[in-house]
Amino acid sequence: MNNTVVEIRNLVKHFPVKTGVIMGRTIGNVKAVDDISFGVSQGETFALVGESGCGKTTVANLILKLLDPTSGDILFQGKSLDRASGSEIRQYRKSVQAVLQDPYGALNPRMRVGHIVGEPLEVHGYGRSERTRLVRDALRSVGLPETSDSQFPHEFSGGQRQRIGVARALTLEPSLIVLDEPVSNLDVSIRSQVLNLLKDVQDQRGISFILISHDLASVEHMSHRIGVMYLGKLVELGGAEQICDDPAHPYSASLVAASTPPGRTPPWQIPIVGEVPSAMETPSGCAFHPRCIYAMPVCSQVAPSLTKLPDGRQVSCHLYPDHIGSIDKSASLPGLEFTTSTIGDGGPEVRPVE
Ligand code: SF4
Repeated sequence: MNNTVVEIRNLVKHFPVKTGVIMGRTIGNVKAVDDISFGVSQGETFALVGESGCGKTTVANLILKLLDPTSGDILFQGKSLDRASGSEIRQYRKSVQAVLQDPYGALNPRMRVGHIVGEPLEVHGYGRSERTRLVRDALRSVGLPETSDSQFPHEFSGGQRQRIGVARALTLEPSLIVLDEPVSNLDVSIRSQVLNLLKDVQDQRGISFILISHDLASVEHMSHRIGVMYLGKLVELGGAEQICDDPAHPYSASLVAASTPPGRTPPWQIPIVGEVPSAMETPSGCAFHPRCIYAMPVCSQVAPSLTKLPDGRQVSCHLYPDHIGSIDKSASLPGLEFTTSTIGDGGPEVRPVE
């Protein structure tokens, strides 16, 4: 793709686990991100979804240069960050901004909104009068009065604070914004307002988004493509409608089933059982096999690789291509009923009823 803004190539991030805080012996590694690759085009929203602990936020932190990768590379507008000069890294930091999950914690309560929104401009050397103009432009573009710049964060509602966060991300006119669970801390009633605002901003400015979320419902609303992560790996990569309407990987299917509203039938009625295993002791073969109701002997022995299906998506599962035809996705599984509960950061889970 010649309009690719950012490309992730074989990215790996392992965190060593030590016996003590100081000079401890390394006893293993948490494989937070384990060889993932994807690209994001101009004006595209690419969503990374998965349960808490799947590695999606680590990917976001790697892209934001808050962490260095163990191996692999990030290319920005075709240039490797690995070989970038200091000025190119500064330009990258300017071009890639973030909107964080917590609109309450993300804004310094002692700073006026004008200072908060204008801080990235100050860091990059913009003068006072230009900062004031750009801050007011940004506030207007997210639907806040420009006079908000003299107020403090506590004077705003949660949705308005997230608008302030979006305004702050827009001031440097970035090419890419990483949205880390941007609406999960907001009331359901105002989530769609913030998501619609982000879509409008994207339409007007052609910005690319990487959207990190456990909530497939909000992902479907605003994403073009989705990558489903499980224990540091991508298990399915495809169009948003493809994955939400007809998931191919059993794990994607269970996430879709869990986010299907009560009274509606999911496209593939499949439960997810048990807890996410430790990322330090990833199961052999397919890491999902201890929780997969379709696991075959090969699944615990051989790790599947991402394979392209005829419809263009990629999936990592031994059911393809030979076994998937024998599964009736629309049938309820015998002896299993489903109920929804929440885990970790509020991510979905479907458990068999005892
Ligand atoms: Fe299930 Fe096997 Fe596919 Fe893994 S590879 S998702 S265990 S069927």
